[in-house]
Amino acid sequence: MNNTTGLGLLIVVSGPSGVGKGTVCKALLDREKDTVLSVSATTRSPRPMDVDGQTYHFLTREDFLSRREQGEFLEWAEVYGNFYGTLRSEVERLQKEGKNVILEIDTQGAMQIKKAYPQSLLVFILPPSLEELRARIVGRGTESQEVLNLRLSKAQEEISMSPHYDFSLVNDEVDRTAEELAEFIRAERIRRSKEDNFAE
Ligand code: 5GP
Repeated sequence: MNNTTGLGLLIVVSGPSGVGKGTVCKALLDREKDTVLSVSATTRSPRPMDVDGQTYHFLTREDFLSRREQGEFLEWAEVYGNFYGTLRSEVERLQKEGKNVILEIDTQGAMQIKKAYPQSLLVFILPPSLEELRARIVGRGTESQEVLNLRLSKAQEEISMSPHYDFSLVNDEVDRTAEELAEFIRAERIRRSKEDNFAE
């Protein structure tokens, strides 16, 4: 899986829970038709708004572990006691179609992708401040106190990994953040296609 002209880019987007990375990615996909999101597999229980096959492929623990055994995941991680993983088949199919593929995954998964595919692009989304992040998670109101505390401490841990990413964006306004991300992807694709032409 390299990034010659015909293949789309592999773009990892990470950020702490509540930073709004899902909203930023959605705004990006609305404006960039050749960019798609890879649907991950997870063992966590679906939330009311989740749609199987669209938000995630919801798997039993047994199914997830057997797929992991078969090498079906490009990367996988345990997050908040549940397994999450990127399906190799899904990413390869989309990249062959020439699409830029977004992986919205945690920092553990991101580091595995960077190691296996050094040509991937890693983007970290930061909150304007920690106070703002806390307010956003509380405001979402979907989490119990215990899960909330877990997510806040994990958020700080995740933010400390941002220097390992190629690019960081502060999500203070969704549309602007999505536009900055789109510009970064466009510029990177142009740069790489020039490099490919030069190499030829
Ligand atoms: P949530 O359950 O709130 O949708 O996601 C929880 C965390 O799991 C988020 O940080 C999200 O980025 C991460 N995540 C979602 N899918 C994957 C995946 O396929 N691999 C990894 N490593 N993390 C994932």
